[in-house]
Amino acid sequence: MKKQLQVMKFGGTSVGNASCIARVAELIRTASRESSVAVVVSAMSGVTNKLIEAANLAQAGNESAVSEIFVRLAKQHDEVVKTLVHSAAERERLRSKLHGLLAEGGRFCQSTFLSRQLTPRTLDAISGLGERLCAPLVAAALVEIGVCSEAMDATELIVTDSNHGGAEPRVDLTRARCQARVVPVLRKNSVPVMTGFIGATEEGVFTTLGRGGSDYSATILGTALDADEVVIWSDVHGLLTADPKLVADASTIPEVSYREAAELAYFGAKVLHPKTLRPVMQRGIPLRIRNTFAADEPGTRITPSVPLNAQPVTGLAAVQSATLITVSGNTKNGVQGTRQDISNTLARTLAAATAIGAEVLLISQSSSDKDIFLVIGSPLGERVVEMLRQQLSADRPQEKTKNVVFTSSVSLLTVVGRNLRTASGTVARAFAALTQENVNIIASVQGSSDCSLSFVIPQTEMTIAVAALHRELELERLPLSKRPVASVAGPSAIRYESEEATAD
Ligand code: ADP
Ligand code: ASP
Ligand code: MG
Repeated sequence: MKKQLQVMKFGGTSVGNASCIARVAELIRTASRESSVAVVVSAMSGVTNKLIEAANLAQAGNESAVSEIFVRLAKQHDEVVKTLVHSAAERERLRSKLHGLLAEGGRFCQSTFLSRQLTPRTLDAISGLGERLCAPLVAAALVEIGVCSEAMDATELIVTDSNHGGAEPRVDLTRARCQARVVPVLRKNSVPVMTGFIGATEEGVFTTLGRGGSDYSATILGTALDADEVVIWSDVHGLLTADPKLVADASTIPEVSYREAAELAYFGAKVLHPKTLRPVMQRGIPLRIRNTFAADEPGTRITPSVPLNAQPVTGLAAVQSATLITVSGNTKNGVQGTRQDISNTLARTLAAATAIGAEVLLISQSSSDKDIFLVIGSPLGERVVEMLRQQLSADRPQEKTKNVVFTSSVSLLTVVGRNLRTASGTVARAFAALTQENVNIIASVQGSSDCSLSFVIPQTEMTIAVAALHRELELERLPLSKRPVASVAGPSAIRYESEEATAD
């Protein structure tokens, strides 16, 4: 019988220092006794931030601060080599490899310093270095404990488009590379340790998949390798009913559908990069989230269909820092815009957001005064507003500017579940809970698929609001699998038809 293949992805905290890496190596060794294992790793915790800081400092002309960062990064990685690798020759080989990579980053920073220009292409080459430094450390830790392993750069495996900072994989090319390069390693019973976060164009120009993108790398690679399961190892017990940093008694969701997990990730559950589910959904590959620091915990299983006895509300997701943009449908003179005007404005607004690379989390339109609301989940909101104002006033100089206003200190809080409109008065309960705590609901939007209900609220009220919803919707009580079935939505109603193949 063909051996099962498991892809194990370890995030930054899981490989945060030498003892964490040693723990990870043990987990891999245990798993490799049962199945073939391919590993995907992030950079050591904090390293990507430091690299991005170095790139920005180089652009600003602060050469000494850049060198200081590289000296510290060298020390941090050398420390791990010293602790984990015992043979002097192997230590030296590894150290010189890592220093070679750091020198490569140093050269990119030097050219940025000289030109005072940081292009998205150079930023990708610098910020992706952390994963390339980490993979050889994990492979070496495996070899130390007797597991045959080799580090592999995903720049040779994941072929992407050239959208720097948020590249998308070219599926067929990626599959061909993985089959040609990774499968032979697996056949030798060796464990490939691949870099998360990065890829390269067909011409070999380095790209990154976006911050937190190693989860996405794991499912891209898992799908390209026809894995039987992808396991995301992180610092939490699984996918929880809310971010445990916001709600102390958030509980682990034992099992959840692709659709709801994707929805939670999209609306801010950071444990999964928002695009993680896309590749595996198309192939029905199950995904699990487990805790590197509590490996006895079963974690969360993410599968194509909803567990039969699931409750209507799965969990809460939050984007703490967002911008709300309102484009008024009325002209400056108070004349109401036509339907055509509104569509044009919407198209322009979305185009402005796309041009700037801002992520639009929500769009809504008030039917009465034809205002359009948009929630942008990144610090780029103000730039979108600026561009939009310019475009709209150039478009219709006689109207001067359309009324574009924004509030940048809002949060987006989303209830995720299924059949929310019909299920046990969930919507009314959510509103009541927020009102009772005097939370100022600036806007609320119900997702078209009826599996999300979002609230735009002031950032300062986020903690109170999320706790109130968690309490009211009884999410802290029991694991979902042990709760009674919802009274309104019966089992047939709560199962998605086929959990359609596309994530969005
Ligand atoms: P990694 O470094 O392993 O990729 P991340 O920091 O990217 O880990 O994601 C894990 C963090 O996600 C957790 O520490 C937790 O604070 C946060 N998080 C937010 N929402 C959720 C949720 N619903 N369930 C679990 N973790 C969540
Ligand atoms: N190291 C990258 C980041 O910090 C990717 C990841 O951790 O998933 O964004
Ligand atoms: Mg992450």
